[in-house]
Amino acid sequence: MENKRILSIPGYGYMYETHSHSKESSACARDSAVDMAKAHKTAGYTGMILTNHNWGGNTSVSRELSWSDFLDAFFEPYYLAKRWGDDNDFQVFPGYEAGYNGTEFLIYGLDIKWMHDHPEIRDASVEEQFEIVHAGGGIVVHAHPFREAFYIKEIRLYPEYIDAVEGVNAAHCPYNGLPDNTDFNVKALDYAQRLGKVITGGSDIHNVNLIGGGMAFPRKLKNINDFVSVLKCAGADDYRVTDGTRVWDACGGRL
Ligand SMILES: [Zn+2]
Ligand SMILES: [Zn+2]
Repeated sequence: MENKRILSIPGYGYMYETHSHSKESSACARDSAVDMAKAHKTAGYTGMILTNHNWGGNTSVSRELSWSDFLDAFFEPYYLAKRWGDDNDFQVFPGYEAGYNGTEFLIYGLDIKWMHDHPEIRDASVEEQFEIVHAGGGIVVHAHPFREAFYIKEIRLYPEYIDAVEGVNAAHCPYNGLPDNTDFNVKALDYAQRLGKVITGGSDIHNVNLIGGGMAFPRKLKNINDFVSVLKCAGADDYRVTDGTRVWDACGGRL
């Protein structure tokens, strides 16, 4: 299986996977977080944000656990992958994908210790989530807003409760046997541009057969807060987004 589809984007030499899953915390994922980190490092990524399905999504962690125990189990693969990354010049950042009956959001920038002290996020509505995540210094990105799939009963949009739109989800593009759902991205890019919000891009990758999506930056990021800071006030040229074959600017303009 081809594993090296990383585009080299002149001036943007630091590529990050922003949407990845591992089997310890996502029931639909196939490989471990450490193996995911190894695969991304081999493929040429600088780093990876692990965004496993949370308590409202397809998590493989028991929802019966106390809040603290849930968080410990849920983020264990992140810590394992980070430890491997620290020893191997590869960055692993924490995040998660919040599920609301099939509508999903990528949450970046919440400190795990902060989450322990804010269990109210567990029962938050989409509207409350926006406030709580902001209070914790994070951002909310609507993941693949126009995906149509068996687990998504209806497309629901929350333009007032998101900071950015996942305009490019590489898993919607035909590659490695994936069906051609490129139109989901076309709609998402149009949505972001109509709202005047920046876009993100990721592979929604669930196994080590990487498909090459992600975001490329002109410098190495310091940590997840650095990623969030860049997104919060990004101009078109602050980063690039790719699905593995094509490139967009931060505002969703096709290059
Ligand atoms: Zn999944
Ligand atoms: Zn996902």
